[in-house]
Amino acid sequence: QYRCRSAFKLLEIDDKLCVLRPGFSVLDCGAAPGAWSQVAVERVNALGTDAAVPTGFVLGVDLLRISPLEGAVFLSETDMAEPSTLRAIQSLLPLGKADVILSDMAPNATGIKELDHQKLIRLCLGLLDIAQSILKPKGTMLCKFWDGSEARLLQNRLKEQFQDVRTIKPQASRKDSAESYYLARLYRGK
Ligand code: SAM
Repeated sequence: QYRCRSAFKLLEIDDKLCVLRPGFSVLDCGAAPGAWSQVAVERVNALGTDAAVPTGFVLGVDLLRISPLEGAVFLSETDMAEPSTLRAIQSLLPLGKADVILSDMAPNATGIKELDHQKLIRLCLGLLDIAQSILKPKGTMLCKFWDGSEARLLQNRLKEQFQDVRTIKPQASRKDSAESYYLARLYRGK
């Protein structure tokens, strides 16, 4: 009953690498139609279903409309690249902070591979700026990228700011050959 097959990518990553834990606050960027947020709601116990563990929080942001989801808060029709978005996010996150930033964002593909690649890298770099304001020390960022000339640049930036950075190619995205994820953990903070 996931809204989109992309859920299985996050489930696979989380099963292997334990990104989401009960009680965590999660920012899900590029959240529409909401499948990653569904996974996050379950894994951080955002509904408080399990009384034995802490209750987490999920905030999803997308350019598109996202249908309501129990346990998640959504900022629909909102551009992560817009400067005013940071304040909106800060006002909605508990104490203005996130333990985990997820990004499955993807710009509308032009079909020009290098251009699409660069647009997505820009989005990820912009997110890294936002992380400075909202990500807790030792926090995690998981972001999708498309292979290309600037992937290394993004990886190097992540390595400056996180102690542990790895590249992940989920089984569930095999068919999309250009797509990978960087999982950056142990944010050094500022
Ligand atoms: N993870 C989602 C799920 O499981 O339902 C699927 C995400 S879909 C692959 C990529 C999304 O990124 C699209 O909905 C798109 O609107 C969004 N997106 C692209 N650029 C964005 C931006 N600048 N700000 C917010 N969302 C953006």
